[in-house]
Amino acid sequence: MMDYDAFFHGKLAALRTEGRYRIFADLERQVGCFPQALRHEGSSQCDVTVWCSNDYLGMGQNEQVRAAMVEAIEKCGAGAGGTRNISGTNHYHVLLEEELADLHRKEAALLFTSGYVANMTALSTLGSQIPGCIIYSDSLNHNSMIEGIRHSRAEKRIFQHNDPKDLERKLAADDPARPKLIVFESVYSMDGDIAPIAEICDVAERHNALTFLDEVHAVGMYGPRGAGVAERDGVMDRVSIIQGTLGKAFGVIGGYIAASADLIDFVRSYGNGFIFTTALPPAVAAGALASVRHVKAARDLRDRHQERAATLKARLKAAGIPVMPSVCHIVPVLVGEAARCKEASDMLLERHCIYVQPINYPTVPKGTERLRLTPSPLHDDDMMDRLVDALVDVWNDLSLERAA
Ligand code: PLP
Repeated sequence: MMDYDAFFHGKLAALRTEGRYRIFADLERQVGCFPQALRHEGSSQCDVTVWCSNDYLGMGQNEQVRAAMVEAIEKCGAGAGGTRNISGTNHYHVLLEEELADLHRKEAALLFTSGYVANMTALSTLGSQIPGCIIYSDSLNHNSMIEGIRHSRAEKRIFQHNDPKDLERKLAADDPARPKLIVFESVYSMDGDIAPIAEICDVAERHNALTFLDEVHAVGMYGPRGAGVAERDGVMDRVSIIQGTLGKAFGVIGGYIAASADLIDFVRSYGNGFIFTTALPPAVAAGALASVRHVKAARDLRDRHQERAATLKARLKAAGIPVMPSVCHIVPVLVGEAARCKEASDMLLERHCIYVQPINYPTVPKGTERLRLTPSPLHDDDMMDRLVDALVDVWNDLSLERAA
């Protein structure tokens, strides 16, 4: 007979042995003090500086966003009260979808409860409903896209990461008459590299393929209005479907796709992960709406964000800390071994009150375990000084490999 508890226990023990067992930092974020937070450990508490948040611009604490959420709660209450189809569509959802369509200069947009659900639902719906569809997926795509593709049961081809030539070879090998969907990200959030979107669109156009671009780590932060890297590169109109999140640079929660009116109506009408779930709370939609409107106009925030990332990279390099070659706001620092990565993170926290979560397999390949730093416009020079000094101390103490 199966001993279920022994099974679960054994699987967890294996994670611990490999140094991959995840321990969450118990944080209490403090309005007005971003990126400081209170860390709880048992009955004690201490202040920490958070260096790994995906609230990239600190919008989760923005005054207008908070005010919009409070006002919407007072007006509409806590929950949406139903699925979007059955009484759950609130006016804030409608306004937010209009705002997101405008942000990406598409005919329409559709909200989901998270970026994960947006990817999963849109891809599983498109892949399963378009007859004979072949999906071409970048080898480093996020789990939410992989699961969406898998769930669609469509035929799939994996192309080499950010390689339009390999993509072209794979498309050319297939029947030109079959429908095709190319799935990729703009900013890859673990390495901080950026896709050649224009070249991928060239390939797509030559082969009559749709393109699905995940801009989760770019919306709010790139382009004149913060619509993402496709906007920055002037190719937004060439991408068929843009997918984004409201949970990172916009600081709230939720996900979306923006595309042609018919495609959006199609996913709205056939997408199970959209249809069969309670709509986002009105206050969440109101907060996200305020955030998108604010960030759209906040070029200074984007400029400061880029400056902070560039400054941190330069400071770490000067100190001999092995910064990986990121071309965006994400600053990964290579450790290269799971247990030592965790040890480095623990030492930063215990000794220096600096919180950076270790990133281990399967999020990144074994041997490339790292600390992933995300400087925001609110990380000031003092915080940066303390971070660099702390990393040097940890690198010395653990005899970690330095940059050449
Ligand atoms: N896409 C990518 C590339 C991501 O990294 C993530 C999450 O971290 C998601 C999608 C999911 O977005 P969300 O956190 O809004 O569910």
